[in-house]
Amino acid sequence: MKIGVIGFQGDVEEHLDMFTKISREQNRELSPISVRRKEDLKDVSGIVIPGGESTTIYKLTKEYEIYDEVKRLVLENDVPFMGTCAGLILSSADTSDDRVIGMGLLDVKINRNAYGRQAQSFIKDIDIDGLGKYTAVFIRAPIIKDPGSCRVMAYDRGNPVMVRSGRRIGLTFHPELTHDLRIHEYFLNIVEGGGSVSSGSYEIKVGVS
Ligand code: GLN
Repeated sequence: MKIGVIGFQGDVEEHLDMFTKISREQNRELSPISVRRKEDLKDVSGIVIPGGESTTIYKLTKEYEIYDEVKRLVLENDVPFMGTCAGLILSSADTSDDRVIGMGLLDVKINRNAYGRQAQSFIKDIDIDGLGKYTAVFIRAPIIKDPGSCRVMAYDRGNPVMVRSGRRIGLTFHPELTHDLRIHEYFLNIVEGGGSVSSGSYEIKVGVS
């Protein structure tokens, strides 16, 4: 099963590592790859846009013709999708910012950098529907100001922080910066057409001060 992580900027290696770890630990047939050319998307079973800087990822995916191809694969072929932080911004219906046009994969309206600057980044325990308690890393996170038709799977202080619509999920935080594999597992289960994940508590990889 080929999983494509859009590979221009941001937490690309971290996402690839999570999938590699799952593949090793759970003996799952997985080929996580970094996508930098349109051809890399051939035969992918799932697509991830990582956290990073959405304006940069937007520019590069446009320039390398990956933007429209991801949009086509997800909207027309229903290829499962996960967007984390900047990836969620790129997949949204409305970014409230002319510098990044959302692909409209998730029917959410976003406010970029809504918590403030880098220094206002934080780590917080949240409760995710179906997954339970989860330690989430928020880095210059956006706010989902309107989840539209998406199902909200977790909130922080009343704001949706994880949403799902069909085979697509979007998160305002960074599961790739923890050692907790559950969200990547959850995504792979969507790819495989299933549901549940193992439970447990895990340390996070980064310190946010
Ligand atoms: N603030 C970033 C943006 O707008 C997203 C932050 C992140 O992905 N950590 O692109």
